[in-house]
Amino acid sequence: MKIAIYPGTFDPVTNGHIDILERALKLFDKVIITIARNTAKNPLFTEEERIALLRQVTKHYKNVEVDSFEGLLVEYVQKRNAISVVRGLRAMTDFEYELQMALMNRKLDETMETIFLMPNEKYTYLSSNFVREIARLGGDVSKFVPPVVLKALRQKNKK
Ligand code: ADP
Repeated sequence: MKIAIYPGTFDPVTNGHIDILERALKLFDKVIITIARNTAKNPLFTEEERIALLRQVTKHYKNVEVDSFEGLLVEYVQKRNAISVVRGLRAMTDFEYELQMALMNRKLDETMETIFLMPNEKYTYLSSNFVREIARLGGDVSKFVPPVVLKALRQKNKK
C-alpha cells in the first residue's frame, strides 16, 4: 500500500487543498492529511476545529485519513510507513521555501521523497491566509472554500 503524507496548517482547508488532495489520491493508495502542531503560526482555528473541518470535507473520499503530529515530519513519515510527502506548488514564490524544506528533510532522512503537485490554475492565487483576511473583512469567500468552512468562518467572525 502506497501511503502519502500531506502536511500543512490547513487554517482553514480551501478548495486549493482539496484540488491537491484529489491529485494525490490518483497517485497513492492512501493519503494522510496531517496538521503540523508545532508551527510558529498563530492559527485562527484551533487544531480540533481544523481537524473537524478537514474530516467533514474529506468524508466522501475513500482512503483519506486526517491526523495531526508534533515534532519532525520525517519521523512522522517513518512512523506511518509512508513513501512520500505531498506538497502543493502554486507559484514561483512557493518554490524556494518548498525546495529548501524538501532538501532539509532529505538530509534528515535520505529515503524521504517529496512530491510537488500543481493545482488547477484557478487556485494558484488561493491561500488560507487570504481567505482568512477576506472573510474577516466581510468579503465573499464562497468560491474559495467548501460550504462547511464558509459557515465556520462566518461563526468565527461573528465572535
Ligand atoms: P503550510 O503552512 O505548511 O504552508 P498550508 O495549509 O498553507 O500549510 O498548505 C499546505 C500545503 O498545501 C502546502 O504545500 C501548500 O503549498 C499547499 N497549498 C495551499 N493552498 C494551495 C492552493 N491554492 N493550491 C495548491 N496548493 C496549495
